[in-house]
Amino acid sequence: MNRKIPKVPVKTWSTPVTGEPSRIIPCTLCHGDHFRPYLVCEGFSYVRCTGCGLVQMNPQPLTVEVVRRYQEGHGADYLSYELANESAFLQLQKLALGDAGFAVLEKDLLVKKRPAILDVGCATGALLETLQNQGWETTGVEICTPAQAYARQVRNLDVRALPLEANHFPAHTFDVVLASHLIEHLNDPRGFVQEVHRILLPGGYFLITTPNIGGFQAWFFKNRWRSAIFDHLFLFSIKTLSQLLRSSGFEVVKVCTWGGLAAGTAPGSLKRVFDRGAKRFGFGDVMLLKAQVPSRE
Ligand SMILES: [Zn+2]
Repeated sequence: MNRKIPKVPVKTWSTPVTGEPSRIIPCTLCHGDHFRPYLVCEGFSYVRCTGCGLVQMNPQPLTVEVVRRYQEGHGADYLSYELANESAFLQLQKLALGDAGFAVLEKDLLVKKRPAILDVGCATGALLETLQNQGWETTGVEICTPAQAYARQVRNLDVRALPLEANHFPAHTFDVVLASHLIEHLNDPRGFVQEVHRILLPGGYFLITTPNIGGFQAWFFKNRWRSAIFDHLFLFSIKTLSQLLRSSGFEVVKVCTWGGLAAGTAPGSLKRVFDRGAKRFGFGDVMLLKAQVPSRE
């Protein structure tokens, strides 16, 4: 009988490995400089900080190169990828928001007339358009120029082309900030989380979705894990991401994970059992942390 063991999942879309200059960085989470090898991939590698456990690409490409990579380099390819997967991604994002306690994002926040939401890394703006139709005041940030132009021209949305910090949004502007599959791409995740904290209103929510290095698939597939890609500079676990959020002034109020086995790697019945277990016990492949700025600070 042809009994199949799990196949290797297709890796997430990424910029191909380039010869960009890179440098050794201290740990962004604990400022330590002692690391152990963790994953060796083709053309890049990850280490694990011995102080706090954060897994990071180190040496790491420079910020200027990374920003340019998204702005120009492979922007058109990225737009095609986003458009081809748009409805599937939108559906996943809506399910994720529901699991995080925002059933179509209306609960406690729509008592306000038009609560303000910012989606950082909003791609083509599909989710923002949905939210706008539900009564939200929406703003987006998308540094990939073709995707940003699409969101503005086709959807008529307010989407900014500069990285978050460069927009200088006034303090205490937003009720909710979303960052879906974004933080793992950034050179300075701490600076990013601090900026989100600054622009959120007291009591505001930060919903952050990213691959889970503590999940089953990361453990099983090692350097063949679909999220071990050149574009991902940091690979967080629930513990390390919670630590980053708490040390920047947030309270972590909810944690969800999804995805036990990668699609197409196992029979459907086995996948369903694993997916349920992953969601229940927190070993899913992707996680969402719901963090809140304390009401009184
Ligand atoms: Zn560390």
